[in-house]
Amino acid sequence: MSTTPTGTRISPDALTGPAVFTGTPVVPGVAAGPVVRPVGSVQLPPAEGPVVPEQQRGAEKERFTTAADAVAARLASRASAATGVSAEVLNTTAQLARDRGLLSAVEQRIGDGSSAEAATVGAAAQFVDLFVSLGGVMAERATDVRDVRDRIVAELTGQGEPGVPAPETPSVLLADDLAPADTAGLDPARIIALATRLGGATSHTAIIARQLGLPCVVGVGGLSDVPEGSFVLVDGEQGTVTVDPDPEEARTRVAAAQEAAAALAGYRGPGTTRDGHLVQVLANVQDGAGARAAAAAHAEGVGLLRTELAFFGRTEEPTVEEQAEIYAGVLEAFPGGKVVLRTLDAGSDKPLPFATPPNEANPALGVRGLRTARRDPGLLTHQLDAVAQAASRTGAEPWVMAPMVATVAEAAEFAAQVRERGMVPGVMVEVPSVAVLADRFLEHLDFLSIGTNDLSQYTLAADRLSADLADLTDPWQPALLALVQATAAAGQRTGKPVGVCGEAAADPMLACVLVGMGITSLSCAASSVAGVGARLATVDLATCQRAAEAALAAADPQSARAAVREVLAAG
Ligand code: PEP
Ligand code: MG
Repeated sequence: MSTTPTGTRISPDALTGPAVFTGTPVVPGVAAGPVVRPVGSVQLPPAEGPVVPEQQRGAEKERFTTAADAVAARLASRASAATGVSAEVLNTTAQLARDRGLLSAVEQRIGDGSSAEAATVGAAAQFVDLFVSLGGVMAERATDVRDVRDRIVAELTGQGEPGVPAPETPSVLLADDLAPADTAGLDPARIIALATRLGGATSHTAIIARQLGLPCVVGVGGLSDVPEGSFVLVDGEQGTVTVDPDPEEARTRVAAAQEAAAALAGYRGPGTTRDGHLVQVLANVQDGAGARAAAAAHAEGVGLLRTELAFFGRTEEPTVEEQAEIYAGVLEAFPGGKVVLRTLDAGSDKPLPFATPPNEANPALGVRGLRTARRDPGLLTHQLDAVAQAASRTGAEPWVMAPMVATVAEAAEFAAQVRERGMVPGVMVEVPSVAVLADRFLEHLDFLSIGTNDLSQYTLAADRLSADLADLTDPWQPALLALVQATAAAGQRTGKPVGVCGEAAADPMLACVLVGMGITSLSCAASSVAGVGARLATVDLATCQRAAEAALAAADPQSARAAVREVLAAG
């Protein structure tokens, strides 16, 4: 099993044993139940239909706005019942249903004689083509446009709302892929686990499943052959979906996972191994509300404040005062605690109109992160002024780091600007060049924080958003782990902290490996803090070190996981 490639069907007993499908594990936990699938696709009319007489066109426009408003209101009301990433995703989709560009494209088509349904299909196709032609990052938006199109057409034609069913019996959702708004609207009392054929460890499905605490495996091949209603067991730590498992074994595995979950409920921090080696378990947040939720989840502080997320969709740079207000809200959530702010990581998968150049041929390798300050140095200095203002207002001592740094000179210049303002400078390790020269970077900096999401993208040369390449951006890839190890070793040599704030830090088993390498803090979604903290409390440092050696020696992610599982079980 250890060498089975992702997506392969294996059967322990070729003739009688249950079929086991493997994928990328993204949220630990075990759950078993009947299979449900997303509600059938919406029947779409052709974009070119019969011409609507001129006198009815006003009424058609009215029908469209009523339907689009109903869709937006439904999504917005779900958003208000949700929190964090789920709320954000639902709000984004709701806004898209009211998007002025979409509305005017639809109205123009209705004005030319299309029905409301046909105009919706035609206008959506226009936007989908545009986003797809822009490539990689923007292609994610095409999924949102198709989702909104389906919801509006369903509303107009009286078809049931597409998306995830709400079964009476707690069930396992199997799907090809899920629209962000579908995942965000999941009711964890009815859907107890998720497995998808597409999607990577950093996809929306994974991020939201993590927030909801739903066992989740992505990139699982062969799922489409599993019939609705059949009984399956999803193991989010091993990354498997077992069809028709032995009922007794399923009960035992679910019970063991529930016991482990109960242990999480008792987690209060601070993070430490069983033998008392302290490792800060921090949270990734985007605003004051997220920081307060993280404090309630017993995070010891903030390991990554993604400042750019507060300014999505803005066309003008926010003022220093507005920024200071937001940062102060985060600092106040952890009085006297550690808060690491990251300067704007605009560009690539997070374009900000006021900071990012349009139409870059290859935005992931373009002007993103710290590089935006080359074009507009004021963006960075204003933001640092805002952080300094928030610090003096709250009496906090924030750590400040830059994303997408590639050279020692960039790091040194950034560090000088941060120190000038009395704050603690660091940079993210996202570009392999920083890991390779970590000692030289640390001559200028007080800390490093490894962003494994981008570090894997740039090390394996694989788009982090590509479902087809999810096996390459798996955080257990040995080349990525070797760079993490090199960076951690530089931290130990210089006595400076090196944390991990990418999704790798949210995987409790990988967290043990990272600690064994000498990583000093782990920062993950607030919902993963207890899982990581509780797991660390069960192992001693020497076992973590053996786990690190086993992971580094493995040939591929699957065998690394299997080897580490064995070391941890024996330890
Ligand atoms: C990372 O790259 O791992 C990271 C934490 O930053 P982001 O996911 O925001 O790019
Ligand atoms: Mg990053």
